[in-house]
Amino acid sequence: VTPRLRQVGPALYELDRSFREDMLVPARIVADEELLRQMARDRSIAQLVNVTTLPGIQDFAIGMPDMHEGYGFPVGGVAGTLLPDGVISPGGIGFDINCGVRLLSTGLLHDDVKDLIPELAHDLARSVPTGFGRHGRLALGPAQVDRVLTEGVPYVVRELRMGLEEDLRHIESGGYLPGAEAAYVSVRARERGHDQLGTLGGGNHFIEVQRVDRILDAEAAADFGLFEGEVTVLIHTGSRGLGHQVCTDAVREMDRALSRAGIRLVDRQLACAPFSSPEGQAYYASMCAAANFAWSNRQVLTHRVREVFGRRLGAEVQPRIVYDVAHNIAKVETYGGRRLCVHRKGATRAFGPGNPELPEAWRKVGQPVFIPGSMGTSSFVLAGRSESQSVSFSSACHGAGRQMSRAAAKREVVGAELRKALNARGIVVECPSNAELAEEAPTAYKDVERVVDAVDTAGIARKVARLVPVAVLKG
Ligand code: 5GP
Ligand code: MN
Ligand code: MN
Repeated sequence: VTPRLRQVGPALYELDRSFREDMLVPARIVADEELLRQMARDRSIAQLVNVTTLPGIQDFAIGMPDMHEGYGFPVGGVAGTLLPDGVISPGGIGFDINCGVRLLSTGLLHDDVKDLIPELAHDLARSVPTGFGRHGRLALGPAQVDRVLTEGVPYVVRELRMGLEEDLRHIESGGYLPGAEAAYVSVRARERGHDQLGTLGGGNHFIEVQRVDRILDAEAAADFGLFEGEVTVLIHTGSRGLGHQVCTDAVREMDRALSRAGIRLVDRQLACAPFSSPEGQAYYASMCAAANFAWSNRQVLTHRVREVFGRRLGAEVQPRIVYDVAHNIAKVETYGGRRLCVHRKGATRAFGPGNPELPEAWRKVGQPVFIPGSMGTSSFVLAGRSESQSVSFSSACHGAGRQMSRAAAKREVVGAELRKALNARGIVVECPSNAELAEEAPTAYKDVERVVDAVDTAGIARKVARLVPVAVLKG
């Protein structure tokens, strides 16, 4: 790729500060040689180097093995800035604030219910609106929107009565960030969001019914409640139009503040503000609110999944939440005694055993980490390792990552044929548009096995289970 990229550890590469004179810290990438070659085809490595110039950045900027080009930061980019005055950058979090994945385990054996999968998929498609700008069955009044924004999932469970008290222990941060302040969320953002809880959104988002194809770590799988042949459901969505608007509003504000303060950035898309500044605080408060909205959205979708499974299979079937992880978010965390604002954009947490933020049951195995592949390949469950703390600010990748742009995928893949090929492999597809389906073709994504191997080799997380799709509902 470039001879300047030196291997500094297992599956770990580095560009040191001599690479570009404006770098404040090195740039690191978790990958193997083949993944590095794929990254070199777009601007993601240059974008990661740009991130190393952000005021207050600590130790290194690090790219995950699924890294590809994004807005400002690459997707799959992680950076920690020193509080209180290091910057927070909306581009380091992404437009879909708290996009993330939640895994449900049903306790059902695929063999026992396989004939019902098409009906279940059909019911899910009827129950969950898909596509950009779509609204759901739940329209909240202004006071309710405020409560979702400030209280997150506990409000959805306790007041809207969608979910179980035990769900709260199985969501990152308990499904709500206390830093949220609804007052910082614009009227426009609320308008866009008020009727979008329980909706999936466009293209890349999905609800996938899966089968546990293989257990790779028996002890950890048992702790997570997963067994071979079990039916699982993976939900991938975020904060919908509300989060998008929060990001848009913040980028505009910060852009103005930057020019007022005379700060110059290598890339305007890296618009940012000191965490402690009024703009930084306002964005953080609104980001937390949008994150609460996203977790609430995945909670309402979980309720829908439970309704559908309950109707077809009996009320005693109650899918459990294994865990829910955010992959577009900034979190305040401590490393080596320093309070950092850790940006994870297309990256998830991967806390090792013993971390006090983990539910008690997992303090000895580590945090569940989910790495979806595509609708035609495997997805993986891993368990975070303690080494992740020093390797990657306790972060792992969030998927296989695109290797083909949406436009290229649409040119190269015929949606109708892809649908047929998936059906022939026994995968039920619920997606209204063949064009959208083509954009999400398995060939548009990197090799998930290779990506997961890099995460494992680098010491970030170990493999626990492999899941394969049996039905997929696409946005
Ligand atoms: P993103 O959040 O960047 O849109 O996507 C997260 C990851 O999900 C992608 O990198 C890709 O590997 C994976 N993915 C996309 N579509 C599907 C799907 O239909 N099923 C599964 N299991 N994974 C998918
Ligand atoms: Mn998203
Ligand atoms: Mn996502």
